[in-house]
Amino acid sequence: MVGPACSARRADGSACRATAGPDGKCFAHSPALRAKAQAARTKGGQNRATSARLGKLVPERLQAIYNLLEEVLNELHKGTVTPQVGGAMAHVASALIKLATAGEIELRLRRLEEQQANSNEKRR
Ligand SMILES: [Zn+2]
Repeated sequence: MVGPACSARRADGSACRATAGPDGKCFAHSPALRAKAQAARTKGGQNRATSARLGKLVPERLQAIYNLLEEVLNELHKGTVTPQVGGAMAHVASALIKLATAGEIELRLRRLEEQQANSNEKRR
């Protein structure tokens, strides 16, 4: 890690070990950086086109899991969620993603097979 560590305490009372910014606090703990992060998030909200484009590639349900995991990462950093809870959530999310991905592939394969069957029918 570069630079001094954050001077803030996590929710469980342990020292935050993230790299500090100019005011001695990390991105999650600094009020100034927090305002900046908030602005960046608002801007992200305005950039929905990117999110919409991503949404076309990522099934809607996976997008929701992604958003939740992103939140958990932030909570883990702040210490408002225990590593046990974070780990359990990541574990369940991983199983959900595997299931959703398998379902998506199955659906696409079925569509392709139907298309193939239809075009074979026409040729006969
Ligand atoms: Zn911190």
